[in-house]
Amino acid sequence: RRALGSLGKSRAKFISAEESTGITFDDFAGQEYIKRELQEIVRILKNDEEFQDKGIYCPKGVLLHGPPGTGKTLLAKAIAGEAGLPFFAANGTDFVEMFVGVAASRVKDLFASARKFSPSIIFIDEIDAIGSKRGGPDIGGGGAEREQGLLQILTEMDGFKEFTSQVLVIGATNRLDILDPALLRKGRFDKIIRVGLPSKDGRLAILKVHARNKFFRSEEEKEVLLQEIAELTEDFTGAELQNILNEAGILTARKDLDFIGREELLEALKRQKGTFETGQEDSTEIPEELKLRLAYREAAVAVLACYFPDPYHPFTETDIKSIRSQPNMRYTEISGKVFSRKSDFVNSIVHACAPRVIEEEMFGVDNLCWISAKATLEASRLAEFLILQTGMTAYGKAYYRNQSDLVPNLAAKLEALRDEYMRYAEDKCSSVLREYHSAVETITDILLEKGEIKAEEIWDIYKRSPRIPQPAVKP
Ligand code: ADP
Repeated sequence: RRALGSLGKSRAKFISAEESTGITFDDFAGQEYIKRELQEIVRILKNDEEFQDKGIYCPKGVLLHGPPGTGKTLLAKAIAGEAGLPFFAANGTDFVEMFVGVAASRVKDLFASARKFSPSIIFIDEIDAIGSKRGGPDIGGGGAEREQGLLQILTEMDGFKEFTSQVLVIGATNRLDILDPALLRKGRFDKIIRVGLPSKDGRLAILKVHARNKFFRSEEEKEVLLQEIAELTEDFTGAELQNILNEAGILTARKDLDFIGREELLEALKRQKGTFETGQEDSTEIPEELKLRLAYREAAVAVLACYFPDPYHPFTETDIKSIRSQPNMRYTEISGKVFSRKSDFVNSIVHACAPRVIEEEMFGVDNLCWISAKATLEASRLAEFLILQTGMTAYGKAYYRNQSDLVPNLAAKLEALRDEYMRYAEDKCSSVLREYHSAVETITDILLEKGEIKAEEIWDIYKRSPRIPQPAVKP
Protein backbone atom coordinates (compact mmCIF):
# COMPACT_ATOMS: atom_id res chain seq x y z
CA ARG A 1 0.00 0.00 0.00
CA ARG A 2 1.36 3.37 -0.94
CA ALA A 3 1.44 6.13 1.61
CA LEU A 4 -0.90 8.95 0.73
CA GLY A 5 1.98 11.40 0.61
CA SER A 6 3.48 9.67 -2.41
CA LEU A 7 0.34 9.84 -4.48
CA GLY A 8 1.29 13.01 -6.25
CA LYS A 9 4.80 11.79 -7.03
CA SER A 10 5.38 10.58 -10.50
CA ARG A 11 5.88 6.86 -10.90
CA ALA A 12 8.29 7.35 -13.75
CA LYS A 13 11.25 5.04 -14.02
CA PHE A 14 14.52 6.88 -13.99
CA ILE A 15 17.69 5.86 -15.78
CA SER A 16 20.67 8.15 -15.23
CA ALA A 17 23.05 9.27 -17.94
CA GLU A 18 25.87 7.13 -16.52
CA GLU A 19 23.79 3.98 -16.62
CA SER A 20 22.24 5.18 -19.87
CA THR A 21 19.79 2.86 -21.52
CA GLY A 22 22.56 1.01 -23.33
CA ILE A 23 20.35 0.90 -26.38
CA THR A 24 21.43 2.45 -29.66
CA PHE A 25 19.93 2.92 -33.09
CA ASP A 26 21.64 -0.30 -34.13
CA ASP A 27 19.07 -2.14 -32.05
CA PHE A 28 16.25 -0.82 -34.20
CA ALA A 29 16.04 -2.27 -37.69
CA GLY A 30 13.98 -1.42 -40.75
CA GLN A 31 12.44 1.97 -41.54
CA GLU A 32 15.82 3.63 -41.91
CA TYR A 33 14.32 7.07 -42.49
CA ILE A 34 12.99 7.12 -38.94
CA LYS A 35 16.48 6.54 -37.63
CA ARG A 36 17.86 9.31 -39.81
CA GLU A 37 15.30 11.79 -38.48
CA LEU A 38 15.93 10.83 -34.90
CA GLN A 39 19.68 10.82 -35.35
CA GLU A 40 19.42 14.42 -36.40
CA ILE A 41 17.49 15.25 -33.25
CA VAL A 42 20.14 13.53 -31.15
CA ARG A 43 22.82 15.64 -32.82
CA ILE A 44 20.96 18.81 -31.97
CA LEU A 45 20.29 17.61 -28.42
CA LYS A 46 23.92 16.78 -27.75
CA ASN A 47 25.30 19.87 -29.28
CA ASP A 48 22.73 22.42 -28.43
CA GLU A 49 24.83 25.57 -28.48
CA GLU A 50 26.36 25.10 -31.87
CA PHE A 51 22.96 24.61 -33.41
CA GLN A 52 21.47 27.51 -31.48
CA ASP A 53 24.03 29.79 -33.04
CA LYS A 54 22.64 28.74 -36.36
CA GLY A 55 19.10 29.24 -35.16
CA ILE A 56 18.26 25.55 -35.10
CA TYR A 57 16.44 24.36 -32.00
CA CYS A 58 15.61 20.92 -30.86
CA PRO A 59 11.94 20.05 -31.14
CA LYS A 60 10.30 20.02 -27.72
CA GLY A 61 8.27 16.97 -28.38
CA VAL A 62 8.48 13.96 -30.62
CA LEU A 63 5.40 11.82 -31.04
CA LEU A 64 5.87 8.26 -32.21
CA HIS A 65 2.70 6.60 -33.35
CA GLY A 66 1.92 3.20 -34.78
CA PRO A 67 0.73 -0.26 -33.78
CA PRO A 68 1.97 -1.83 -30.52
CA GLY A 69 5.20 -3.78 -30.75
CA THR A 70 6.69 -1.82 -33.63
CA GLY A 71 9.57 -0.45 -31.56
CA LYS A 72 8.39 2.95 -30.33
CA THR A 73 9.71 2.39 -26.81
CA LEU A 74 12.88 0.98 -28.27
CA LEU A 75 13.39 4.15 -30.33
CA ALA A 76 12.86 6.40 -27.31
CA LYS A 77 15.45 4.42 -25.38
CA ALA A 78 17.81 4.54 -28.33
CA ILE A 79 17.58 8.33 -28.42
CA ALA A 80 18.51 8.45 -24.74
CA GLY A 81 21.26 5.88 -25.25
CA GLU A 82 22.77 7.65 -28.24
CA ALA A 83 22.61 11.06 -26.64
CA GLY A 84 23.85 9.70 -23.32
CA LEU A 85 21.13 11.58 -21.47
CA PRO A 86 19.12 10.70 -18.38
CA PHE A 87 15.82 9.07 -19.27
CA PHE A 88 12.51 9.26 -17.43
CA ALA A 89 10.03 6.64 -18.57
CA ALA A 90 6.38 7.03 -17.65
CA ASN A 91 3.10 5.64 -18.89
CA GLY A 92 0.02 7.73 -19.63
CA THR A 93 -2.01 5.49 -17.37
CA ASP A 94 0.28 6.30 -14.41
CA PHE A 95 -1.22 9.75 -14.27
CA VAL A 96 -4.80 8.71 -14.20
CA GLU A 97 -6.02 8.20 -10.67
CA MET A 98 -9.43 8.77 -9.31
CA PHE A 99 -8.21 11.25 -6.72
CA VAL A 100 -8.68 14.86 -7.70
CA GLY A 101 -5.53 16.74 -8.54
CA VAL A 102 -3.25 13.72 -8.55
CA ALA A 103 -2.74 13.54 -12.31
CA ALA A 104 -1.65 17.17 -12.58
CA SER A 105 0.73 16.96 -9.64
CA ARG A 106 2.28 13.77 -10.99
CA VAL A 107 2.94 15.49 -14.30
CA LYS A 108 4.42 18.47 -12.48
CA ASP A 109 6.64 16.23 -10.42
CA LEU A 110 7.88 14.37 -13.49
CA PHE A 111 8.81 17.53 -15.35
CA ALA A 112 10.45 19.04 -12.26
CA SER A 113 12.70 15.99 -11.91
CA ALA A 114 13.55 16.00 -15.58
CA ARG A 115 14.49 19.68 -15.45
CA LYS A 116 16.76 19.05 -12.52
CA PHE A 117 18.72 16.60 -14.67
CA SER A 118 18.46 18.51 -17.93
CA PRO A 119 19.35 18.05 -20.66
CA SER A 120 17.22 14.97 -20.30
CA ILE A 121 14.49 12.95 -21.93
CA ILE A 122 10.97 12.21 -20.76
CA PHE A 123 9.22 9.29 -22.39
CA ILE A 124 5.46 8.94 -21.98
CA ASP A 125 4.17 5.69 -23.39
CA GLU A 126 0.43 5.34 -24.14
CA ILE A 127 0.12 9.09 -23.98
CA ASP A 128 -3.44 8.75 -25.25
CA ALA A 129 -4.46 7.58 -21.77
CA ILE A 130 -3.97 11.12 -20.55
CA GLY A 131 -3.89 13.08 -23.79
CA SER A 132 -7.12 12.06 -25.48
CA LYS A 133 -9.49 14.61 -26.92
CA ARG A 134 -11.18 16.73 -24.33
CA GLY A 135 -14.94 16.50 -24.25
CA GLY A 136 -14.88 13.13 -26.03
CA PRO A 137 -16.51 9.99 -24.69
CA ASP A 138 -15.22 9.29 -21.20
CA ILE A 139 -14.01 5.74 -21.65
CA GLY A 140 -12.94 4.25 -18.36
CA GLY A 141 -14.00 7.29 -16.32
CA GLY A 142 -11.75 9.85 -14.68
CA GLY A 143 -12.34 12.36 -17.50
CA ALA A 144 -11.99 15.55 -15.50
CA GLU A 145 -8.88 14.21 -13.83
CA ARG A 146 -7.34 13.32 -17.14
CA GLU A 147 -8.12 16.76 -18.48
CA GLN A 148 -6.20 18.33 -15.60
CA GLY A 149 -3.25 16.09 -16.35
CA LEU A 150 -3.32 16.96 -20.02
CA LEU A 151 -3.51 20.67 -19.29
CA GLN A 152 -0.52 20.30 -17.02
CA ILE A 153 1.50 18.60 -19.78
CA LEU A 154 0.62 21.46 -22.12
CA THR A 155 1.65 24.03 -19.51
CA GLU A 156 4.93 22.26 -18.84
CA MET A 157 5.79 21.96 -22.50
CA ASP A 158 4.98 25.61 -23.12
CA GLY A 159 6.96 26.52 -20.04
CA PHE A 160 10.47 25.42 -20.87
CA LYS A 161 11.42 28.03 -23.35
CA GLU A 162 14.79 28.73 -21.75
CA PHE A 163 17.27 26.58 -23.58
CA THR A 164 19.31 25.98 -20.49
CA SER A 165 16.76 23.48 -19.30
CA GLN A 166 16.34 21.42 -22.41
CA VAL A 167 13.98 18.52 -21.88
CA LEU A 168 12.91 16.48 -24.85
CA VAL A 169 9.51 14.87 -24.42
CA ILE A 170 8.87 11.74 -26.43
CA GLY A 171 5.33 10.44 -26.54
CA ALA A 172 4.13 7.14 -27.95
CA THR A 173 0.63 6.10 -28.93
CA ASN A 174 -1.20 3.72 -31.17
CA ARG A 175 -4.21 6.03 -31.20
CA LEU A 176 -3.12 9.22 -32.91
CA ASP A 177 -6.76 9.69 -33.91
CA ILE A 178 -7.97 10.27 -30.36
CA LEU A 179 -5.17 12.61 -29.23
CA ASP A 180 -6.14 16.10 -28.29
CA PRO A 181 -5.12 18.39 -31.16
CA ALA A 182 -3.67 20.83 -28.62
CA LEU A 183 -0.86 18.35 -28.03
CA LEU A 184 0.12 18.41 -31.68
CA ARG A 185 0.39 22.15 -31.96
CA LYS A 186 3.67 23.86 -32.73
CA GLY A 187 6.00 24.04 -29.78
CA ARG A 188 4.54 20.87 -28.28
CA PHE A 189 4.72 17.55 -30.09
CA ASP A 190 5.76 19.19 -33.29
CA LYS A 191 7.58 16.22 -34.72
CA ILE A 192 5.23 13.39 -35.53
CA ILE A 193 6.74 10.17 -36.73
CA ARG A 194 4.84 7.13 -37.82
CA VAL A 195 6.35 3.80 -36.87
CA GLY A 196 4.59 1.29 -39.07
CA LEU A 197 4.68 -2.43 -39.65
CA PRO A 198 7.96 -3.49 -41.22
CA SER A 199 8.27 -4.35 -44.91
CA LYS A 200 9.78 -7.66 -45.97
CA ASP A 201 13.28 -6.19 -46.01
CA GLY A 202 12.55 -4.55 -42.68
CA ARG A 203 11.46 -7.86 -41.21
CA LEU A 204 14.66 -9.51 -42.40
CA ALA A 205 16.70 -6.73 -40.83
CA ILE A 206 14.80 -7.05 -37.53
CA LEU A 207 15.25 -10.82 -37.53
CA LYS A 208 18.97 -10.28 -38.03
CA VAL A 209 19.15 -7.95 -35.04
CA HIS A 210 17.54 -10.54 -32.81
CA ALA A 211 19.55 -13.40 -34.31
CA ARG A 212 22.80 -11.73 -33.24
CA ASN A 213 23.06 -13.74 -30.04
CA LYS A 214 21.65 -16.97 -31.47
CA PHE A 215 23.46 -19.95 -32.95
CA PHE A 216 23.01 -21.12 -36.52
CA ARG A 217 24.88 -23.81 -38.39
CA SER A 218 26.45 -21.28 -40.72
CA GLU A 219 26.05 -17.69 -41.83
CA GLU A 220 24.69 -18.89 -45.18
CA GLU A 221 22.06 -21.09 -43.57
CA LYS A 222 21.08 -18.30 -41.23
CA GLU A 223 20.58 -15.95 -44.17
CA VAL A 224 18.40 -18.45 -46.04
CA LEU A 225 16.29 -19.30 -43.00
CA LEU A 226 15.71 -15.72 -41.95
CA GLN A 227 14.78 -14.83 -45.53
CA GLU A 228 12.15 -17.53 -45.45
CA ILE A 229 10.72 -16.35 -42.13
CA ALA A 230 10.65 -12.75 -43.39
CA GLU A 231 8.59 -13.94 -46.37
CA LEU A 232 6.09 -15.71 -44.15
CA THR A 233 5.52 -12.94 -41.65
CA GLU A 234 3.56 -10.26 -43.42
CA ASP A 235 1.82 -8.01 -40.88
CA PHE A 236 4.09 -9.11 -38.04
CA THR A 237 5.53 -6.52 -35.70
CA GLY A 238 9.14 -6.34 -34.51
CA ALA A 239 8.06 -7.65 -31.13
CA GLU A 240 6.43 -10.68 -32.73
CA LEU A 241 9.52 -11.36 -34.84
CA GLN A 242 11.68 -11.17 -31.76
CA ASN A 243 9.36 -13.68 -30.08
CA ILE A 244 9.73 -16.10 -32.96
CA LEU A 245 13.50 -16.15 -32.60
CA ASN A 246 13.33 -16.48 -28.83
CA GLU A 247 10.81 -19.28 -29.07
CA ALA A 248 12.95 -21.04 -31.70
CA GLY A 249 15.89 -20.75 -29.32
CA ILE A 250 13.89 -22.32 -26.53
CA LEU A 251 12.69 -25.18 -28.76
CA THR A 252 16.28 -25.78 -29.86
CA ALA A 253 17.47 -26.00 -26.28
CA ARG A 254 14.58 -28.26 -25.34
CA LYS A 255 15.57 -30.66 -28.12
CA ASP A 256 19.16 -30.43 -26.96
CA LEU A 257 20.35 -29.21 -30.34
CA ASP A 258 23.30 -26.89 -30.89
CA PHE A 259 21.85 -24.81 -33.69
CA ILE A 260 18.50 -23.32 -34.54
CA GLY A 261 17.15 -25.07 -37.63
CA ARG A 262 14.30 -24.65 -40.08
CA GLU A 263 11.98 -26.92 -38.14
CA GLU A 264 12.34 -24.94 -34.91
CA LEU A 265 11.80 -21.65 -36.69
CA LEU A 266 8.66 -22.83 -38.44
CA GLU A 267 7.33 -24.33 -35.23
CA ALA A 268 7.99 -21.05 -33.42
CA LEU A 269 6.27 -19.15 -36.22
CA LYS A 270 3.24 -21.38 -35.94
CA ARG A 271 3.07 -20.83 -32.21
CA GLN A 272 3.42 -17.11 -32.60
CA LYS A 273 0.55 -17.04 -35.06
CA GLY A 274 -1.60 -19.09 -32.74
CA THR A 275 -0.74 -17.37 -29.49
CA PHE A 276 -0.67 -13.73 -30.20
CA GLU A 277 -4.40 -13.64 -30.41
CA THR A 278 -5.81 -16.50 -28.43
CA GLY A 279 -3.26 -16.26 -25.65
CA GLN A 280 -3.19 -20.03 -25.47
CA GLU A 281 -0.77 -22.38 -27.09
CA ASP A 282 -3.15 -25.00 -28.29
CA SER A 283 -6.28 -23.70 -29.94
CA THR A 284 -7.65 -26.88 -31.48
CA GLU A 285 -10.86 -26.52 -29.50
CA ILE A 286 -12.67 -23.54 -30.99
CA PRO A 287 -15.87 -22.58 -29.14
CA GLU A 288 -19.06 -22.93 -31.18
CA GLU A 289 -19.91 -19.25 -31.20
CA LEU A 290 -16.48 -18.35 -32.43
CA LYS A 291 -16.76 -20.95 -35.18
CA LEU A 292 -19.99 -19.36 -36.32
CA ARG A 293 -18.39 -15.92 -36.35
CA LEU A 294 -15.37 -17.23 -38.25
CA ALA A 295 -17.60 -18.94 -40.80
CA TYR A 296 -19.58 -15.74 -41.43
CA ARG A 297 -16.37 -13.78 -41.71
CA GLU A 298 -14.86 -16.13 -44.27
CA ALA A 299 -18.13 -16.31 -46.21
CA ALA A 300 -18.36 -12.51 -46.37
CA VAL A 301 -14.74 -12.21 -47.50
CA ALA A 302 -15.40 -14.89 -50.15
CA VAL A 303 -18.45 -13.09 -51.53
CA LEU A 304 -16.57 -9.80 -51.74
CA ALA A 305 -13.69 -11.59 -53.48
CA CYS A 306 -16.16 -12.82 -56.11
CA TYR A 307 -17.78 -9.41 -56.40
CA PHE A 308 -14.44 -7.69 -57.04
CA PRO A 309 -12.57 -10.44 -58.88
CA ASP A 310 -8.85 -9.83 -59.26
CA PRO A 311 -7.39 -12.04 -62.00
CA TYR A 312 -3.87 -11.37 -60.69
CA HIS A 313 -4.72 -12.20 -57.10
CA PRO A 314 -7.27 -15.02 -57.24
CA PHE A 315 -8.43 -16.70 -54.05
CA THR A 316 -7.97 -20.41 -53.63
CA GLU A 317 -9.60 -21.65 -50.45
CA THR A 318 -10.52 -20.83 -46.90
CA ASP A 319 -11.32 -22.58 -43.65
CA ILE A 320 -12.39 -22.03 -40.06
CA LYS A 321 -9.74 -24.22 -38.50
CA SER A 322 -7.65 -21.50 -36.94
CA ILE A 323 -8.46 -18.32 -35.08
CA ARG A 324 -6.76 -15.24 -36.38
CA SER A 325 -7.73 -11.61 -36.39
CA GLN A 326 -7.33 -11.53 -40.14
CA PRO A 327 -9.28 -13.62 -42.65
CA ASN A 328 -8.09 -17.16 -43.35
CA MET A 329 -8.83 -16.83 -47.07
CA ARG A 330 -5.79 -17.80 -49.15
CA TYR A 331 -4.79 -16.22 -52.43
CA THR A 332 -2.26 -16.91 -55.13
CA GLU A 333 -0.24 -14.29 -56.89
CA ILE A 334 -0.13 -14.24 -60.67
CA SER A 335 2.50 -11.95 -62.08
CA GLY A 336 1.77 -9.54 -64.86
CA LYS A 337 -0.25 -6.93 -63.02
CA VAL A 338 1.15 -3.67 -64.25
CA PHE A 339 -1.06 -1.06 -62.69
CA SER A 340 -3.74 -0.44 -60.08
CA ARG A 341 -6.40 2.14 -60.67
CA LYS A 342 -7.99 4.31 -58.04
CA SER A 343 -11.10 2.14 -58.23
CA ASP A 344 -8.95 -0.91 -57.45
CA PHE A 345 -7.76 0.77 -54.26
CA VAL A 346 -11.27 1.73 -53.29
CA ASN A 347 -12.53 -1.79 -54.00
CA SER A 348 -9.79 -3.22 -51.78
CA ILE A 349 -10.98 -0.96 -48.98
CA VAL A 350 -14.54 -2.20 -49.51
CA HIS A 351 -13.26 -5.78 -49.48
CA ALA A 352 -11.28 -5.24 -46.27
CA CYS A 353 -14.43 -3.97 -44.55
CA ALA A 354 -16.20 -7.32 -45.02
CA PRO A 355 -15.26 -8.98 -41.70
CA ARG A 356 -16.40 -6.04 -39.57
CA VAL A 357 -19.52 -5.33 -41.61
CA ILE A 358 -20.77 -8.92 -41.50
CA GLU A 359 -20.02 -9.19 -37.79
CA GLU A 360 -22.01 -6.04 -37.15
CA GLU A 361 -24.92 -7.24 -39.29
CA MET A 362 -25.07 -10.70 -37.79
CA PHE A 363 -24.09 -10.14 -34.18
CA GLY A 364 -24.82 -6.48 -33.54
CA VAL A 365 -22.61 -3.49 -33.08
CA ASP A 366 -22.42 -3.97 -29.30
CA ASN A 367 -21.40 -7.55 -29.67
CA LEU A 368 -18.28 -7.32 -31.84
CA CYS A 369 -15.15 -9.28 -31.11
CA TRP A 370 -11.56 -9.10 -32.30
CA ILE A 371 -11.75 -11.49 -35.24
CA SER A 372 -12.26 -8.56 -37.62
CA ALA A 373 -9.51 -6.44 -36.09
CA LYS A 374 -6.71 -6.81 -38.63
CA ALA A 375 -8.97 -6.47 -41.67
CA THR A 376 -10.51 -3.31 -40.27
CA LEU A 377 -7.10 -1.80 -39.59
CA GLU A 378 -6.08 -2.80 -43.09
CA ALA A 379 -9.10 -0.97 -44.52
CA SER A 380 -8.20 2.26 -42.82
CA ARG A 381 -4.52 1.82 -43.67
CA LEU A 382 -5.46 1.43 -47.34
CA ALA A 383 -7.62 4.54 -47.18
CA GLU A 384 -4.76 6.48 -45.64
CA PHE A 385 -2.37 5.17 -48.27
CA LEU A 386 -4.73 6.14 -51.07
CA ILE A 387 -5.13 9.64 -49.67
CA LEU A 388 -1.53 10.38 -48.79
CA GLN A 389 0.67 8.37 -51.08
CA THR A 390 -0.94 7.94 -54.44
CA GLY A 391 -1.60 11.50 -55.57
CA MET A 392 -5.07 10.37 -56.56
CA THR A 393 -7.04 12.36 -53.99
CA ALA A 394 -7.35 16.04 -53.15
CA TYR A 395 -4.72 16.03 -50.40
CA GLY A 396 -2.39 13.49 -51.88
CA LYS A 397 -1.58 15.94 -54.66
CA ALA A 398 0.56 18.16 -52.51
CA TYR A 399 3.93 17.24 -51.13
CA TYR A 400 4.25 18.45 -47.57
CA ARG A 401 7.87 19.09 -46.99
CA ASN A 402 7.65 20.38 -43.49
CA GLN A 403 4.99 18.21 -42.01
CA SER A 404 5.25 19.69 -38.56
CA ASP A 405 4.06 23.10 -39.74
CA LEU A 406 0.95 21.76 -41.29
CA VAL A 407 -0.03 18.78 -39.29
CA PRO A 408 -2.63 20.21 -36.88
CA ASN A 409 -4.73 21.52 -39.69
CA LEU A 410 -3.90 18.84 -42.17
CA ALA A 411 -4.52 15.98 -39.79
CA ALA A 412 -8.14 16.98 -39.28
CA LYS A 413 -8.76 17.29 -43.01
CA LEU A 414 -7.11 14.00 -43.79
CA GLU A 415 -9.03 12.33 -41.04
CA ALA A 416 -12.30 13.65 -42.42
CA LEU A 417 -11.43 12.44 -45.90
CA ARG A 418 -10.42 9.04 -44.59
CA ASP A 419 -13.70 8.81 -42.70
CA GLU A 420 -15.52 9.58 -45.93
CA TYR A 421 -13.75 6.76 -47.74
CA MET A 422 -14.39 4.41 -44.86
CA ARG A 423 -18.07 5.34 -44.70
CA TYR A 424 -18.47 4.73 -48.42
CA ALA A 425 -16.56 1.43 -48.19
CA GLU A 426 -18.69 0.19 -45.32
CA ASP A 427 -21.94 1.18 -47.03
CA LYS A 428 -20.89 -0.44 -50.28
CA CYS A 429 -19.71 -3.58 -48.51
CA SER A 430 -22.94 -3.82 -46.58
CA SER A 431 -24.94 -3.41 -49.78
CA VAL A 432 -23.01 -6.22 -51.52
CA LEU A 433 -23.44 -8.53 -48.55
CA ARG A 434 -27.18 -7.87 -48.48
CA GLU A 435 -27.49 -8.47 -52.19
CA TYR A 436 -25.66 -11.78 -51.85
CA HIS A 437 -27.00 -12.71 -48.44
CA SER A 438 -28.16 -16.09 -49.65
CA ALA A 439 -24.65 -16.93 -50.90
CA VAL A 440 -23.17 -15.79 -47.58
CA GLU A 441 -25.51 -18.14 -45.70
CA THR A 442 -24.78 -21.10 -47.97
CA ILE A 443 -20.99 -20.67 -47.72
CA THR A 444 -21.30 -20.25 -43.94
CA ASP A 445 -23.24 -23.52 -43.69
CA ILE A 446 -20.67 -25.43 -45.71
CA LEU A 447 -17.82 -24.04 -43.61
CA LEU A 448 -19.57 -25.05 -40.40
CA GLU A 449 -20.20 -28.50 -41.76
CA LYS A 450 -16.89 -29.27 -43.47
CA GLY A 451 -14.51 -26.76 -41.93
CA GLU A 452 -13.20 -25.62 -45.31
CA ILE A 453 -14.24 -24.63 -48.81
CA LYS A 454 -12.44 -24.29 -52.14
CA ALA A 455 -12.61 -21.45 -54.66
CA GLU A 456 -14.51 -23.51 -57.23
CA GLU A 457 -17.38 -24.23 -54.89
CA ILE A 458 -17.47 -20.61 -53.73
CA TRP A 459 -17.75 -19.38 -57.31
CA ASP A 460 -20.48 -21.87 -58.01
CA ILE A 461 -22.56 -20.75 -55.03
CA TYR A 462 -21.92 -17.10 -55.79
CA LYS A 463 -23.16 -17.48 -59.35
CA ARG A 464 -26.28 -19.48 -58.70
CA SER A 465 -27.57 -17.99 -55.44
CA PRO A 466 -30.59 -15.69 -55.67
CA ARG A 467 -29.80 -12.01 -55.24
CA ILE A 468 -31.72 -9.27 -53.49
CA PRO A 469 -31.31 -6.02 -55.45
CA GLN A 470 -30.08 -3.07 -53.36
CA PRO A 471 -30.23 0.69 -53.93
CA ALA A 472 -27.04 2.17 -55.40
CA VAL A 473 -24.44 3.42 -52.93
CA LYS A 474 -23.24 6.95 -53.61
CA PRO A 475 -19.50 7.46 -53.45
P1 ADP B 1 6.10 -0.40 -28.87
O1 ADP B 1 6.64 0.58 -27.89
O2 ADP B 1 5.94 0.18 -30.24
O3 ADP B 1 4.87 -1.11 -28.41
P2 ADP B 1 8.46 -1.89 -28.22
O4 ADP B 1 9.52 -0.90 -28.45
O5 ADP B 1 8.03 -2.12 -26.82
O6 ADP B 1 7.18 -1.54 -29.09
O7 ADP B 1 8.89 -3.26 -28.90
C1 ADP B 1 9.07 -4.44 -28.14
C2 ADP B 1 10.34 -5.16 -28.56
O8 ADP B 1 10.21 -5.65 -29.89
C3 ADP B 1 11.54 -4.27 -28.59
O9 ADP B 1 12.13 -4.18 -27.33
C4 ADP B 1 12.44 -4.99 -29.59
O10 ADP B 1 13.13 -6.02 -28.98
C5 ADP B 1 11.45 -5.58 -30.56
N1 ADP B 1 11.30 -4.71 -31.75
C6 ADP B 1 10.19 -4.06 -32.14
N2 ADP B 1 10.40 -3.37 -33.28
C7 ADP B 1 11.70 -3.57 -33.62
C8 ADP B 1 12.55 -3.12 -34.69
N3 ADP B 1 12.10 -2.32 -35.66
N4 ADP B 1 13.84 -3.53 -34.69
C9 ADP B 1 14.31 -4.35 -33.73
N5 ADP B 1 13.56 -4.80 -32.70
C10 ADP B 1 12.27 -4.44 -32.63
